[in-house]
Amino acid sequence: MSKYFQIQWREFVRDLTANNKLTPNELLFEILNFLKKNLEFFKKKPFSDYDFEQFLDVDINDYLPEINSYESANVQYFINTAKRYENAQEATIALFLRDALEDMLIFESGRTCPRCGRSGMGVLKNRLDDRLAFLCRQCGLGVYFDESKVKPGELKIASITDLHNAHLI
Ligand SMILES: [Zn+2]
Repeated sequence: MSKYFQIQWREFVRDLTANNKLTPNELLFEILNFLKKNLEFFKKKPFSDYDFEQFLDVDINDYLPEINSYESANVQYFINTAKRYENAQEATIALFLRDALEDMLIFESGRTCPRCGRSGMGVLKNRLDDRLAFLCRQCGLGVYFDESKVKPGELKIASITDLHNAHLI
């Protein structure tokens, strides 16, 4: 990995380790801060393959990773893995961070994907008009609640308020 990114990543991991009782929400806050601080980097390959910008406008005050069963054991696992990745390829770190953010932020419904059969399609919303949609994390199939098709780049993270208003939580 580039020297610059390696320094930033090590600093990020050191900060996480310094606080031995991070809550899931605090970890989310730290990751989003890391993203914002290094935004120019996240716009470039390999990070740009994972659309990190979709996570940037998540309102941390209107989100709880715990609703996705992201608990303190997951926080510890994240920190331990991050430590092991001190010298990892950037592509490895990109995938690791994207997966962690999705685990924390994408609410899983009881719906099974009609295309690939994965259970627990995620719930997201339209960037412009807030219509809720199901998205399969395995094959990428997206459908709005009214069954119309999702086009690429249309969705963003749904907040706790969105999920609550739709009686999903
Ligand atoms: Zn699928």
